Amino acid sequence: MKILVLNAGSSSLKYQLFDMENGAVLAKGNCERIGAGGTVTHKRPDAEPFFEETDLADHGVALERVLALLTSAEYGVISSIDEIGAVGHRVAHGGEKIKESSRITESMIEYLETLIPINPLHGPPAIAGIKACMRLMAGVPQVAVFDTSFYSGIEDFRYVYPIPYEYYENDKIRRYGFHGTSHRYVSAALAKAVGKPIEELKIVTCHLGNGSSITAVDGGRAIDTSMGFTPQEGICMGTRSGSIDPTVVTYLMKTKGYTAQEVEDIINKKSGLLGVSGISNDCRNVYAAAEEGNKRAQLAMNILINGIKKHIGAYAAEMNGIDALVFTAGIGENQANIREAVCENMEFFGIEIDKERNMNFTRGIPFDISKKGAKVATWIIPTDEEYMIAIDTQRLSGK
Ligand code: ADP
Repeated sequence: MKILVLNAGSSSLKYQLFDMENGAVLAKGNCERIGAGGTVTHKRPDAEPFFEETDLADHGVALERVLALLTSAEYGVISSIDEIGAVGHRVAHGGEKIKESSRITESMIEYLETLIPINPLHGPPAIAGIKACMRLMAGVPQVAVFDTSFYSGIEDFRYVYPIPYEYYENDKIRRYGFHGTSHRYVSAALAKAVGKPIEELKIVTCHLGNGSSITAVDGGRAIDTSMGFTPQEGICMGTRSGSIDPTVVTYLMKTKGYTAQEVEDIINKKSGLLGVSGISNDCRNVYAAAEEGNKRAQLAMNILINGIKKHIGAYAAEMNGIDALVFTAGIGENQANIREAVCENMEFFGIEIDKERNMNFTRGIPFDISKKGAKVATWIIPTDEEYMIAIDTQRLSGK
């Protein structure tokens, strides 16, 4: 069975076509600048990537182009759309009601539309992608996989913010958590790698990319996570501040005359590694500058590393210890120096890594970097959100 996985952003549409017989990616690509021009990059294994500039007026037009490429004689990998058995959609926000990956129905789309006020950036493109698919691939099962649903089981005292309760009840302001598909995938992969049932493991998963989040997974269930009402909360990220005293926001508005949108841009797009270092949002560049002695780059790295450590410590406390620590995503999978700094002086928690193995790790596979005899298993696990979406989609497609 072949499954198409779609991930719609505000002006982009990423896609991957999986052959579920063997989990192989037959083709993948990205439509960008939707609504403002348009480009398509289409890749197949063992073939030169195809690139074009074309007019992509909306997500529907982009999807039509993707389907045409997937079935084209020159660049295609299937002879007809009918070969696609189901479509899996990445949806960032499932609100409070949607607790797991589900088949898409009209009433689900209506519910997703009600979430747009709390999910203004990702909601509309995801809904547009779903609607386009339902129109162009009528009759093909459509499944939605939510970033938030892994957190649907966390307890109220971990998701209700200590502000007047009416804002939770009436306005649904609460912790939702994001990156759930990645945390779910890597925690399951860790259990498989160490050969233990996930039900017996307390795991802290660190998804460290441009956006970063840390999750406590106890017995296979997420019990707490660093991102909150939006992906803004938690540790320092590429351009996001992560958690700061909320009064900083109102103080800036009062003293500088900034609008709500201006402050949001500051904490969302101009902060984090970029804001502190003044150099880049890319951790590689900031780390390199820190190595060369740039003080602000060193400060940015220290803020990032300390934030990760604090969350690991907090989650060890919440779970009464940890059995495994996982690093994933761009930084977690690639930047050995950051992993080493995070794991330094963590013997108290049972975390000790083999520095040689950490530096000379093998990319692209689950890789054990624990020191021999360490109480906590510390692993690099490459994340694969798209494959996780494909697995859920296959399971729910009824095929
Ligand atoms: P996103 O959150 O946008 O998906 P990624 O998971 O790709 O981001 O992570 C981006 C971050 O990962 C950047 O800060 C970058 O420095 C780091 N990174 C990505 N690839 C590498 C690599 N090959 N080597 C070192 N760092 C990398």
